[in-house]
Formats: sequence, structure tokens, C-alpha cells
Amino acid sequence: MRESLTERANLLRNAPDLVRLVPFHIPIYRSTRRRPWQIRAGLSLYALLGNLGREARFRSVPRAQWQDLDGLDTRDLQAVFRYHDAQTDDAQLVRAVASSAELLGARIESPARLIRARRVEQGWSVEYGNEQRSMSLVARTLVNAGGPWVQLVRERIDPKPPGLEIDLIGGTHLELEGRLERGIYYSESRRDGRALFFMPWKQRILVGTTEIAWRGDPRLVRPLPEEIEYLSEAFERQFPSRKARVLEAWAGLRVLPHAAKSAFHRSRETQLCVDSAEAPRMVAIYGGKLTTYRSTAERVIALLTPGLPPAARKADTATLAMTRSPLDEREARSLSAGN
Ligand SMILES: Cc1cc2nc3c(=O)[nH]c(=O)nc-3n(C[C@H](O)[C@H](O)[C@H](O)COP(=O)(O)OP(=O)(O)OC[C@H]3O[C@@H](n4cnc5c(N)ncnc54)[C@H](O)[C@@H]3O)c2cc1C
Repeated sequence: MRESLTERANLLRNAPDLVRLVPFHIPIYRSTRRRPWQIRAGLSLYALLGNLGREARFRSVPRAQWQDLDGLDTRDLQAVFRYHDAQTDDAQLVRAVASSAELLGARIESPARLIRARRVEQGWSVEYGNEQRSMSLVARTLVNAGGPWVQLVRERIDPKPPGLEIDLIGGTHLELEGRLERGIYYSESRRDGRALFFMPWKQRILVGTTEIAWRGDPRLVRPLPEEIEYLSEAFERQFPSRKARVLEAWAGLRVLPHAAKSAFHRSRETQLCVDSAEAPRMVAIYGGKLTTYRSTAERVIALLTPGLPPAARKADTATLAMTRSPLDEREARSLSAGN
């Protein structure tokens, strides 16, 4: 959590166009599993880990203001806590990181797929390609950042490197018609007590998420009808005067350590797996969060640096400013011109 909060602070400082603080609300009902004192204790710890910055403060929303919370269900409501956390557009953030890397000299080949990597004396002989052409290169080191495809990418590396046992857990989000004006709501599902988010998202409302074990091809993950029904019902219970009009539904896969216990209680920490403990030439990234992408990259580079020739540092990503990619900047400008 401390790592996530440090990275959140870096992002808020370095990429204010892309990451912003938003008010979060936690409503506590008579039936909510965690009691107000537990939430208060949890938020105090969160504030302490966040170094008690402005964004770390939280407070209890007075009862007189509950009617002003986007139509939140107030029956059996005992308390509402408000704190601040960060929100981003994940696609925009990833594009900004890629264009920042290009500005510093990285060459990005996208779309492209690793076909095969074979260990050779200089490092790795890599074959890759896209629909149009196949290409090859020799690389000193290799990073498997295949996300849900991490095991499939591993199969393409010769000799096959050690790996971790994982589960792929699907999560569906719904985009609903309407707006939430007061920020994000972080609540428990009344059906099974799972944590759910209801948030403003591009002139719509985003509701998520579910957790369903996935065993097939990662590309085929999709929202199931029962997930859409579960999230729609949760929204209508949380905001009883509103109807869930689903405009879009989409699903992604989390990479979690293999275990019998529920997905919600499993570690979200990133695990790194190397081909050789003494002299790593390949690192595979398992699991983790978008928030900690930079610190993960730092750990990966620290593992691979001994096998690389000395190089002058071009930038420090902990302080490097990042703006929207040229593509997103053009879109943002045309949207504001339209307004
Ligand atoms: C439902 C859900 C909710 C989440 N919520 C949060 C959240 O609130 N906060 C947070 O911080 N994180 C969240 N995450 C986690 C976050 O999305 C992931 O940690 C992050 O996307 C992982 O990034 P990645 O680059 O490792 O993998 P990905 O983003 O999945 O990228 C893997 C890439 O590998 C590519 N690939 C596959 N095969 C090949 C091949 N043969 N050759 C080359 N490339 C290949 C794929 O095309 C893909 O682009 C959530 C995840 C899910 C599923």
C-alpha cells in the first residue's frame, strides 16, 4: 500500500493532466460488514501511509448532506465517509508513458507480437511480427510483460524459463447512462458483501467489478449475462431512484497468484520471475497494479542492469513530467473546442 501511495503521489505531481484526485464516499449501512470504527481506523492508517498530505484527509459526511449524494440509498444508512483518491484514464496513461519513452529514445513496435525468443551467446535471438511482416533482432535482455498472456509468452521462449502458478480472474465493468456529480462511491454489494465502485466516467457512470475465474484464451474474455445483471442490480439498490441503462459492458483479466481462497483476498503485489538468479537475462512480470507500473519497471531494470553495458541515465522517472500523448492531446483540444 505504501508503494501504491508513493506512486500515486508521483503521478499526481508528474502527470496532472492524466491523474487527478477525486472524492470517494464509503456508505456504511446497518448490514455493512465493516463497522464505522473499522472504516475510520482503516482510513486513518491510509492517511498515515500517505504521509498525512492534503489528499490523505478524510471526514464523516454530516447526515444533513446525505440527500445531496447523487440519490444514494439512505435507508438504514449509519455513516458516510469521504476521502480522496486518484483516478486516471488507463489507456491515456499507457499512451503517455509510451510517447514519453519514445521522446527519450525508445523504439516502440506496436502492434507486434513475439513469435519466438531463443537464447544465444549475445542474449536472445527474437522473432516478432505483425499482420504485414515478420522481423528479428538480437537483444541482450528480455522482459515478459504479457499480463494475462504471461504464460503463453513464456511458452515461446527457449529454453522455457521458470514461471509462477497463476489464476486469471475476469472482471466486468458496465458503463451506464447518467452522471454522478459528487464523486466515486465505494460500497459493499448487498447480495454478497463484495466491494464495488460506482464512478463518474466520460459523461457516463462506470460500475465495477466482478471476479470470475477464467480458463480460456485471454482474448475471449467478455462480460457474462449474470455479471451484467449482478452489477445492474447493485447499482439500482445503491441508487434506488435510478434505472441501470447499460450503454456498454467490457471485461479484463487480473493475474493473481494461484490459490483456493477468494480472488478478493489474494495479493495484488507484483511478482518478478527471472531465468537465472545469479545473472538474470530475462524477467517475467506477474500480476500487480497499473498504479505501480513505474516502481515495477525500476525493479525490473535493477535486476537486468548487471547484464547490460554501462549507460548514462537519461531521466529520472520519479520526477519526469508526463503529458498526454499527441493523439490524446489533439482529441482533448477538439473536445474543448466543441464545448
Ligand atoms: C477488472 C480489473 C480492474 C482493475 N482495476 C485496477 C485499479 O483500479 N487500479 C490499478 O492500478 N490496477 C487495476 N487493474 C490492474 C491493471 O489493469 C493491470 O495491473 C495492468 O493492466 C497490467 O498491465 P500489464 O502491462 O502488465 O498487462 P496488460 O495491460 O494486460 O498488457 C499485456 C500486453 O501484452 C500483449 N501481448 C500478449 N501476447 C503477446 C505476444 N506474444 N507478444 C507481444 N505482446 C503480447 C497484449 O497485447 C497486451 O498489450 C485492474 C485489472 C482488472 C482486470
